[in-house]
Amino acid sequence: MTSLSVIVPLFNERESIPELLDQLYLAMGERELCDLFGEPFSFEIIMVDDGSTDASPSLITGLIASRPEIRLISLQRNFGKTAALSAGFLAASGEYVCTIDADLQDDPLAIKSMIKKLQEGYDLVSGWKRDRKDPLSKTLPSKLFNAATRLFTGISIHDFNCGLKVYRSGVVRRLELHGDMHRYIPVLAQWNGFRVTELPVNHRARKFGSTKYGSSRFFSGLFDFLSVLFITRYLRRPMHFFGMAGLVSFLFGFCISLYVTLDKILLHKPVSNRPILFLGILLLILGVQLFSTGLLGEMLSTSSTKGTQFTVRETANLTPTQAKMLPIG
Ligand code: UDP
Ligand code: MG
Repeated sequence: MTSLSVIVPLFNERESIPELLDQLYLAMGERELCDLFGEPFSFEIIMVDDGSTDASPSLITGLIASRPEIRLISLQRNFGKTAALSAGFLAASGEYVCTIDADLQDDPLAIKSMIKKLQEGYDLVSGWKRDRKDPLSKTLPSKLFNAATRLFTGISIHDFNCGLKVYRSGVVRRLELHGDMHRYIPVLAQWNGFRVTELPVNHRARKFGSTKYGSSRFFSGLFDFLSVLFITRYLRRPMHFFGMAGLVSFLFGFCISLYVTLDKILLHKPVSNRPILFLGILLLILGVQLFSTGLLGEMLSTSSTKGTQFTVRETANLTPTQAKMLPIG
C-alpha cells in the first residue's frame, strides 16, 4: 500500500491549525490523489511542534482522538524550522513525503499535482510561489537569494525556499540539514544526485499570527548560503579550496619578498621603510595558514566515517547481500 507522510513544522500557529488540518484532510480525500497512488493509500500527518509557547500542542493532542492519522512531535524548545523538518524526516514512514507550512500560506490542494510531477520521474518537486502574497520586505531579499543560488549552483528553479515540497523518501533519508539550511534543500538534494524540479503553486497571504522570521533572516540566509556552497563544492576536498588560495597567497608573498631581498643585496636599497615588505610577509603567513587549514580539513573529511562518498540510484541482478553493502539513494 502506498503511503504519504505529510510533515508540518509549526511554531505558535494555534489559530491556523484547525483550518489547516481540515484542508489537508480534504486534499488527502481527493479522487485524483487516490488515482495517482492507487487505492487504498494511507497517509499520516506529522505535526512537528517547534517549541510553541501557545496552545498548539494541546490543540493537536485533542484532535488525535477523532483523526488518528495525526502524529505529534514536540521539540524541547524552539530549534528552528530546519530542526523541525529534520525531526519530521526522521519519523516519516511513507514512501512519499510532503512538507507544508502550518500558516495556511501553502495550498494543500497543490499536493496532488506535485505528486503527479514526482511520478514523472523526479525525486523532489519544490513549490514555486509564482504569485507570492508577502510584503516587499520579504519578496525582494528572497528574489535576490534565489537569483544568487541559481547562478552559483546552476539549478534552474525559481523558489528554493517554498514550504510546500514533495519528496521520495530516499531524499529525506539522505539529507543532512544544519543551521537554517531548509532554504537550500533543493541544492543539497541535487548535489546528492536526486532529480529536482519545480511546479508553480497557489500562495496565500498569512491569515493568522505573524511571520517567524524578521530581518535577521537576511544574514542567516547569507551565511547558510555560503555553507551550502562550500558543502556542495568542497566538503570532500577542502584542500582544493584552501590549498589553492594558500598557494596563490604564498606565491605572491614569495615573489614580493624575493624582489625586496634582491633590491637589498644587489642595489643596496634599504628595506625597513618599504610597505611592500610587510605585504610580502603578510601574504606568506596567510598562505601557510590557508594551506594548513586545508590540510586539517582534508584530514577531518577523510577520517570522518559518517556518510559515504556516493549513493546508488538503482542496481540489477545483485544478490541481496551485495545490495546491502551499497548505499542505495
Ligand atoms: N516555523 C517553525 N519554527 C520556527 C519558525 C517557523 O517551525 O522557528 C514554522 C512556522 O510555524 C511555519 C513555517 O515554519 O509553519 C514557516 O514560517 P513562517 O510562515 O513564519 O515563514 P515565512 O512564510 O514568513 O517565510
Ligand atoms: Mg509563512
